[in-house]
Amino acid sequence: MGPDWYCNEAIPGTVKVEVEVLAQTENTLAFRPPLLGFGTDHIIVIPTQHVPSLLDLPDDLAGELLTTLKKVAAWAVDQYGGCQVLTTLGNEQHNKHLHWHVAVGDGVARFVPGG
Ligand SMILES: [Zn+2]
Repeated sequence: MGPDWYCNEAIPGTVKVEVEVLAQTENTLAFRPPLLGFGTDHIIVIPTQHVPSLLDLPDDLAGELLTTLKKVAAWAVDQYGGCQVLTTLGNEQHNKHLHWHVAVGDGVARFVPGG
């Protein structure tokens, strides 16, 4: 993956790798990345315009993105009983296009030892 795989490959119109789209609005996209090792199921939610991180998210896009995220999270809770929604920032963010992870099962990061 390049530094901005989302803009370069995942966003429709420039797709080089086929991704399974789960939800889509005018300015947002939710899909399963074609990567193994993310656990039981894993969905990525992104804005389709380039936004480097949550800190750069324009207010007029925040509601639409959160609405898509909420739909995917509700679906994950319905399907699996629960999920984790997270995004990374700064030196913890490896791909500099804002992306939310919706993780379930083995893909959930456990913040409490043994939890
Ligand atoms: Zn981008």
